[in-house]
Amino acid sequence: MSGSHSYEENLAAANASLARFADAPLTHLINGEHVLSVSGETFANSSPIDGRHLGDVAAGHAADIDAAATVAAVAFESWSRTPGTERKAILHRVADLIEERAHQIAVTECVDTGQTMRFMSHAALRGAANFRFFADQAPAAADGQALPTPDHLNYTSRSPIGPVGVITPWNTPFMLSTWKIAPALAAGCTVVHKPAEWSPFSAHLLAEAAHDAGLPPGVLNVVHGMGETAGKSLTEHPAITAIAFVGESSTGSMIQKQGADTLKRVHFELGGKNPVVVFDDADLDRALDAVIFMIYSINGERCTSSSRVLIQESIYDEFTARIAEKIKGIPVGHPLDPTSIMGPLIHQRHYDKVCSYRDIAAAEGATVIEGTPFADAHEDGQYVAPMLFTNATNDMAIAQEEIFGPALTAIPFTDEADAISIANDIDYGLAGYLWTSDVTRAHRVAGRLEAGMIWVNSQNVRHLPAPFGGVKASGIGRDGGDWSFDFYMETKNVAIALGEHSIPKLYAD
Ligand code: NAD
Repeated sequence: MSGSHSYEENLAAANASLARFADAPLTHLINGEHVLSVSGETFANSSPIDGRHLGDVAAGHAADIDAAATVAAVAFESWSRTPGTERKAILHRVADLIEERAHQIAVTECVDTGQTMRFMSHAALRGAANFRFFADQAPAAADGQALPTPDHLNYTSRSPIGPVGVITPWNTPFMLSTWKIAPALAAGCTVVHKPAEWSPFSAHLLAEAAHDAGLPPGVLNVVHGMGETAGKSLTEHPAITAIAFVGESSTGSMIQKQGADTLKRVHFELGGKNPVVVFDDADLDRALDAVIFMIYSINGERCTSSSRVLIQESIYDEFTARIAEKIKGIPVGHPLDPTSIMGPLIHQRHYDKVCSYRDIAAAEGATVIEGTPFADAHEDGQYVAPMLFTNATNDMAIAQEEIFGPALTAIPFTDEADAISIANDIDYGLAGYLWTSDVTRAHRVAGRLEAGMIWVNSQNVRHLPAPFGGVKASGIGRDGGDWSFDFYMETKNVAIALGEHSIPKLYAD
């Protein structure tokens, strides 16, 4: 288990894994070949732990995307016809290799993103679980329905949509990539993956595992680069039939415009500012643990974080005091130290953005409470202490904007109607959490919250067959179960006449 390694073991494994990225620029992977950009351009990648230069990365442009999309289109001819049972076997081998390499993947991810081992060791294994889940669905992915009438037999079937583009963010890059890439490959699509420029390394490790597992060349290609260049070209390329995107809402909007000329099918997993509603009849000990977990794990850099806690006014002071007390004990530290819960934030720009909300909160009249900073932080490390903003109202920027960091905004509410109104008064609609011991109220409120996913008396517990996705500015479409295949596949209906049904004569002979 990767979680059971000591700090020294993690550090040694990270140094061994990162040495290759320091020695030579990280290449694209196109048709199974390691290639630099046509332009020869690279960009630098640094660590949030100490600002250390980790290596240079090939910076892709339209020409590199064109090369990758072209081979993905060629590879689609055979991969889309490869029997589902064969795809299943290959994808299970990918999962085997991810499990074998989980420690290497996790330590690489920690140094590249600043996320701690505590969470990245699980994230790597969840990547393998994603591959296994969708591998098992591959043999039946094309199956459809029989829809007979007295005169005709209608039957449906599904076929893979074509080469697709997958564009991913930096927060948990390996796991999120598998979430998109595994169902695409299981469906029979080929992929061009454009990973986030702030955390490019683990995409390479995934493509390597896929290659070593026997995935044919050209089926999974990786092109690195900036969103505005490589990402944009991918969304505009005529050979790419669909774009699966995870990232900010504003980027989703740009991608929809960019893909309009080529009529791209899009699937968007976007931002969130998710409410957790705590009623005064809830099990407050369990609610407290869940609230703390859902905002201060993964550095608060999770789309489903419960970043707005709405607390019934009768328990507001007591509950916020308990949160404030808890956050003092959250260990902020080096991501490879197994005792650390929070690590540094990924990039100077993101660090500045998250920190700016401390001043915004104070200027808006909220009370700012902070946890314990990391005493041994490197002077160039982007560490922040956990933050709690109390005495907040829902119209404040700290309540409306996605901070995407370890910052929780606590808002009081009077009754059920007030809680629903505050929860829904937001552009986003990804997840909602609800704590109450009144079962009828739980159903009522769950039905009224404007979000794609609701958890009652629970933190976010992912069940792969269940749909994952948001409403409003939080997304378009659903992942998980058969929903993923609906996106990556086209449905065809065939109607066969069963006898001599009447055919209208347009004119008499
Ligand atoms: P981002 O939108 O800045 O970048 C995401 C990806 O899009 C990167 O690979 C980037 O290079 C690329 N990109 C940027 N501009 C582009 C363009 N014009 N065309 C094509 N590609 C472009 O997001 P981020 O800062 O990397 O990630 C954080 C965001 O992701 C947060 O808003 C978070 O909520 C969201 N997120 C959502 C989910 C979900 O499932 N809903 C999961 C994780 C993260």
